[in-house]
Amino acid sequence: MKKAHDKALPQRRRGAEKSRAEKTEDAAKGVLCVSSAPLRLCGEEFSTRLIRWHKRHGRHDLPWQNTTDPYRVWLSEIMLQQTQVTTVTPYYLRFLERFPQLADLAAAPVEDVMALWSGLGYYARARNLHAAAHTVMAQHGGKFPRDPSVIAQLPGIGRSTANSIATFCFGAHAPILDGNVKRVLCRAFGIEGFPGSGAVEKRLWSLAEELMPKRHGAIYNQAQMDLGAMACARTKPRCEACPLDDICVARSTGRTAELPQARPHREVPLRHATLLVLLHGDRVLLETRPPAGIWGGLQSLPELPEGADAQEWAKRNFACRVIAVSPAPTFVHTFSHFKLHIAPLRVLVEPSLHAMETGQHWFSLDALAAAALPAPVRRILQQAASTEGIGHHERQDRNRGE
Ligand code: SF4
Repeated sequence: MKKAHDKALPQRRRGAEKSRAEKTEDAAKGVLCVSSAPLRLCGEEFSTRLIRWHKRHGRHDLPWQNTTDPYRVWLSEIMLQQTQVTTVTPYYLRFLERFPQLADLAAAPVEDVMALWSGLGYYARARNLHAAAHTVMAQHGGKFPRDPSVIAQLPGIGRSTANSIATFCFGAHAPILDGNVKRVLCRAFGIEGFPGSGAVEKRLWSLAEELMPKRHGAIYNQAQMDLGAMACARTKPRCEACPLDDICVARSTGRTAELPQARPHREVPLRHATLLVLLHGDRVLLETRPPAGIWGGLQSLPELPEGADAQEWAKRNFACRVIAVSPAPTFVHTFSHFKLHIAPLRVLVEPSLHAMETGQHWFSLDALAAAALPAPVRRILQQAASTEGIGHHERQDRNRGE
């Protein structure tokens, strides 16, 4: 009897009566709950809406668009990971000016690549970019591979980036799943769980494959990225301007602030480091960091071992005469897995020139713009330069995972 009554309900009513759990379950089956009726969503309809929206509202003139050159598309994809378009643009243009072709990048010393990347953060990206350029030259005769599964084997390139390059440059039929796309899918389909977890990511990949249209794959992939960046923003999504507003589970259930679910909370440990700013006139002593680990391959300040006396340690390790030691302002820098409390110590010295170790050199505070420095070290040196009255104009520390 109840069933017959339910059947007689208007579609709008039946849709509205579904609980949040039912709606989420429907979404998992590929059924979207809409205000008027449950709609079995056809991949083509989803992509058609996005493609139409992109035509009028998407981004069409970014410096890495309107090209099918895989080197340029690859470079932009890597730079855009965890980084905003406005930040990436000047770096992208400078990089291409210095390394116009993949072969130029492969032939350059890694230090030059790191210097151009300085300030952009997540430096493993730059090291991998350089290594991948070498691989393309050595194993693919300088020609960028076309097959997404082969592209994904290059250093620093994951499945989504490989698919993106193959779609934009070689017309492949390959879905993407970057942060923006994950956010749109989690909200539109009401997908629970942290999207970075293996199980949720697997589910998102299979949904992305299902939704991938047979034609216009490049426009569709660009549309998803643009929708995530321009309408379905992390905070305050502009649902009224979204082509999915009438079928989006997060919108219809009032859960845009809850989806996608945040990374489960974990305590971030706090570590401490004392960095020595060894100054001689307008020059500072820098060391090249080992290739692996934080700030790998970048120029940095010597770190004072815990419990060591700065004066004694500097004298012993750099064979210099210490004139004065004074503390500089401390600060906390946040990495993805820990926080670092940094205490810089300014040490005025009279150096002994024959005492330099490999990888150490005196660097003019006037020439910092050209140095491959992590942002916190740049910040310390800017302060040192202004205290010393050395005039130069440096960029601000943008604290991007450096
Ligand atoms: S309707 Fe809102 S929450 Fe849903 S996909 Fe569009 S912008 Fe995102």
